[in-house]
Amino acid sequence: MSSFTFGPSTPVRHGTDENARRTPVSGTCPECGASELAAYRVLSEGGRWDVEKCQACLASAHRTPAPALGPFTPFGSGA
Ligand SMILES: [Zn+2]
Repeated sequence: MSSFTFGPSTPVRHGTDENARRTPVSGTCPECGASELAAYRVLSEGGRWDVEKCQACLASAHRTPAPALGPFTPFGSGA
C-alpha cells in the first residue's frame, strides 16, 4: 500500500466588493447602442442605487433606489 497524501486545499477568494457584483442584463445602451449592459449597485448621493450601465461607454441606462438592507436582487425581465 502506498501512502496517500492529500493535496493542499484550494484557496477560496471572497470578493465582497459590492461594486464588483455585476449582473449582465439584456438590452442595448441608449447612448452607443452596445448590448453590454450590466446591473450593479452603487453608492451615490441619496444612498444606494441599483443601476444599469453600459460597459462600453459607461452610460446609465436605468437607475432605481436600492433597498437599504436586503439581498441584491438583479433586475427582472427588461421591457
Ligand atoms: Zn454605451
